[in-house]
Amino acid sequence: MRSALEIAAEIQSLEYRFGSDGAHVLTRAAELAGEARARGEHALHLWARLLEANMLRRTGDLATAAAICTTVNTWAQQTRHRPLLARSHQQLSIVHDNLGDVAAGLEHAVRAVEALDDDASPRAQGAILLRLADVLATDGSIEAARTRYEHAERVAAGNNDVELRLVVLNNLAYAEHLAGDGERAWIAIQRLRTVTEATGERLSLDALDTMAMIQISRGRFAEAATIARGNVEAYESSGLDDADGLAEFLLTLAIAQRHLGDTGAAQVSLDRCTALCQERALAGVEARVLQEQAELYAACGDHSQAFVVYKRFHAAERLLHSQQRDAQARARHAVFETAEARDQAERFREQARRDPLTGLRNRRFIDENLPALLTAAAPLVVALVDLDHFKRVNDICSHEIGDRVLVALAELITDAARTWPDPGSSFAARLGGEEFLLVLPGCDAASAAPHLERFRQSVQNHPWHPLTGDLPVTVSIGATEALPGSTQSSILAAADKLLYQAKHNGRNRCRLSR
Ligand code: GH3
Ligand code: MG
Ligand code: MG
Repeated sequence: MRSALEIAAEIQSLEYRFGSDGAHVLTRAAELAGEARARGEHALHLWARLLEANMLRRTGDLATAAAICTTVNTWAQQTRHRPLLARSHQQLSIVHDNLGDVAAGLEHAVRAVEALDDDASPRAQGAILLRLADVLATDGSIEAARTRYEHAERVAAGNNDVELRLVVLNNLAYAEHLAGDGERAWIAIQRLRTVTEATGERLSLDALDTMAMIQISRGRFAEAATIARGNVEAYESSGLDDADGLAEFLLTLAIAQRHLGDTGAAQVSLDRCTALCQERALAGVEARVLQEQAELYAACGDHSQAFVVYKRFHAAERLLHSQQRDAQARARHAVFETAEARDQAERFREQARRDPLTGLRNRRFIDENLPALLTAAAPLVVALVDLDHFKRVNDICSHEIGDRVLVALAELITDAARTWPDPGSSFAARLGGEEFLLVLPGCDAASAAPHLERFRQSVQNHPWHPLTGDLPVTVSIGATEALPGSTQSSILAAADKLLYQAKHNGRNRCRLSR
């Protein structure tokens, strides 16, 4: 079996990869998640799951991706695991962005940046800053986005991370293009080119497509057509099987050719693109192909055909939007269900650790919390509280009155607990029957004594008459201080012995020793 470090190294090598070997990463991520689970490495398991979610999202399974990211995010928040907190917020930002909820996308991106630690890998830092930049750009805040793109590029450059740097510049160029600033977009593209030339890298086909579209927006149709034609050829000789990519390039080429007035060539490119869309069911590109076809008919002066195709374009777009809305609804539901399941689990967890009659903590809570308090260095006092002659209350009054006495006593305990030192970790629990346990961390025997005595008196002085008539209600207490090496069973046995002495000495008293 491989070590946790080796598994972590592989996950790290696979995340934030911008290439298109998605199927391979998805398979590996699932295997790594299984390996981490088998080793009992929960954080590592969740890290691999996030990688899986990222790949699922890219292949369009937004609902599953959303559910995984939400689960990891919840866990990271509860355990304050900052690396997973940053990564899960980043993933959730993309998910919400894809869902069309840019505001939520922005919020998660900001939280991802907040959760970044100085010792996060430069690739992770850069990728998270890039996410914030991208979502700011989508939100229309191009000024704010520019600053973050710059920041992300500085991180990438400082780390000699050429791949990340190219993605940052590509996204910046695209953002400027979408913001309608063709000249700034072109500057970003020039910088992209400079980096690729200096490093001997090649521009990705995506970047080249962005470049062609920017040239179209700048009216440089011949340059755009040259780039787009080069893209189609490069694609055909690459052996890649990313049909989406080729269809995009053919569409860009057709647009450039139409602007050049070469309507015949444009029609040939568009026909190839249409065939590809139908063969591969590329609904997203197909609608835009129809739009371009309408433009092309219009350019050829065939306005009636243009009108017919334009109507088909609108229908295709409506269908696409309704399908997107369905997918978004499914993913939102998945996020909601995960959050709901988490809340329910928390409620159930809380309920399972309380006594239903009195609302105090129960035995299970003691078992889960007392051992840790005992191993902490601070002093600690535990006190056993037992009602005196409680059997008589049941016998003379009724079992129901007995229950109400138990509830009233629990309230007196809760009142008393408000004045205990260290309210964050002290607690009171019902051990069972008419026996209660008080746990006072931050107290030694001497400082606990007045608290316990005051509580005993508050029980004695409570107006019980409406409940029990003339029958008095009092408690006996056996309390002891934890010693180095005390265990839960040893300290409870010691307290029990003292409680027995308190009963033997006449009840309604407190026996306390260290
Ligand atoms: P002592 O002062 O020695 O503690 O006398 P006691 O009568 O309190 O002690 P004992 O252990 O003999 O009796 C405890 C009684 O508590 C017996 C049982 O009926 C009653 N009891 C235990 N659980 C409950 C409960 O949930 N509700 C009610 N009403 N009575 C309970
Ligand atoms: Mg009793
Ligand atoms: Mg008892």
